[in-house]
Amino acid sequence: MSEKTPSFLDMMSNFTKEVVEYAKQGAPHVTESQYKERIRTCGSCNHLKQDVMRCGKCGCLVEHKAKWATTTCPDKRWDPVKVGSAGKTIKLKGNGKRKSNTTKASDKVRSTDTKD
Ligand code: SF4
Repeated sequence: MSEKTPSFLDMMSNFTKEVVEYAKQGAPHVTESQYKERIRTCGSCNHLKQDVMRCGKCGCLVEHKAKWATTTCPDKRWDPVKVGSAGKTIKLKGNGKRKSNTTKASDKVRSTDTKD
């Protein structure tokens, strides 16, 4: 039995949902190694339409979708990514303690262009 290919409207709907969630969470990207792993997984997946690099399950362009930390594989083949869990560790001046600069989805956005 063959799988139903998503219609153009289904693809646009799926893509729109993905973009909205990505923007809502502050446009977080996966790490380079997570991206490569996702693309490797898609490359060996029977749902991938290789001529257009589109997922046959959701219709998304996998090379774009795979960059976004908020996206998931519709067939649960990608390792889960927790948004804000893979930032670099930086050393802050003063107390000598190391603190992660990982951004969490719940962090508030502040303007950095104020003139105090
Ligand atoms: S997103 Fe998932 S289902 Fe779609 S092509 Fe990639 S691995 Fe396959």
